[in-house]
Amino acid sequence: PSGMALHGQSANAPPSGMVLINANENPLGPSKAACDAIARVAPLGGRYDLTGETELLTKTIAAQSGLKPEFIAVYAGSSEPLHYSVLAFTSPTKSFVTADPSYEAGMFAARTSQAKIIKTPLTSAFAHDVKAMVAADAQAGVIYICNPNNPTGTLTTKKDIVWALENKPAGSILLVDEAYIHLTDEPDTLDLVAQGKDLIVLRTFSKIYGMAGIRCGFAAGRPDLLAKLKPFGQNAMPITGSAAARASLEDPKLVPERRKMIGDTRRDTIAWLKTNGYKVIGDPQTNCFMIDTGRNGRAVMAAMKARNVMIGRTWPIWPNAVRVSVGTPEEMAAFKVAFKAVMDGPPL
Ligand code: PLP
Repeated sequence: PSGMALHGQSANAPPSGMVLINANENPLGPSKAACDAIARVAPLGGRYDLTGETELLTKTIAAQSGLKPEFIAVYAGSSEPLHYSVLAFTSPTKSFVTADPSYEAGMFAARTSQAKIIKTPLTSAFAHDVKAMVAADAQAGVIYICNPNNPTGTLTTKKDIVWALENKPAGSILLVDEAYIHLTDEPDTLDLVAQGKDLIVLRTFSKIYGMAGIRCGFAAGRPDLLAKLKPFGQNAMPITGSAAARASLEDPKLVPERRKMIGDTRRDTIAWLKTNGYKVIGDPQTNCFMIDTGRNGRAVMAAMKARNVMIGRTWPIWPNAVRVSVGTPEEMAAFKVAFKAVMDGPPL
């Protein structure tokens, strides 16, 4: 089977018994094949990469995505290429344009490069407002599109992304963060990379593949764009990460099974929230969603923690909304009990 324990205690449950649905992790953890691959290469760890694990992974990604290997750069997670892309393509005269709320790591990197940061609110459907993003600044360096979006889990259509690519300011790139794309039924944007467009696509093995603590991700882009990331840091890959990622890719059932499992749990939880009169923001399609609690979100988080359920945080633009990650059915059952008790309890 590709999941570890699908029900009941998984190997990834914390010893404290605390329900961890705060960091968009995958409670199923790495697949059995990924764990076996790690065990296979661990004894070779005295060498940087005796068996060429990272090259094998790059070739596998390339073959599966219809890209030439030189369009792929593998990293220990997607955080590195996210930071490096922003550092490479923004500056005091080239701004960083992001949706709000969205994943903030790119914005933090833009602070380091002293770039102007332009935040555009999501649309009424909680998609990226690509028209506003493209119009935001003729001197934009990076337009960051997180699809599906963290924290809302909502989608931006491929049509809108293509429109942004065709209409963005000259001299800018689109940075499309597809950390959660496998959890949706949406098309990805790797074909636009193959066409040689001005975009870098980020992928990670931390989410659907359950390898957050093992570390593997990649950037896909034209070789001349990827070359610009190199001055910001070059590092050997952990062979465990490369081998586990390749084993994950070679299991054709892993993604559809997990997409269904996590999707079913999300749909059940959201249906329960709505039936009970709670306000879910938009139409989330991944392993996280936001609830507008109508009260101080941080206080809700603290009250949930006191009931042994760690939920995710608020974003400055929406202080009453909390992000919740999708755990196992058992974890979400515990979430429901705690959330109802908190919301029915004394005012926060
Ligand atoms: N991008 C998004 C949208 C994320 O949510 C995360 C992690 O939460 C990352 C990138 C970085 O993940 P990693 O460095 O584990 O690949």
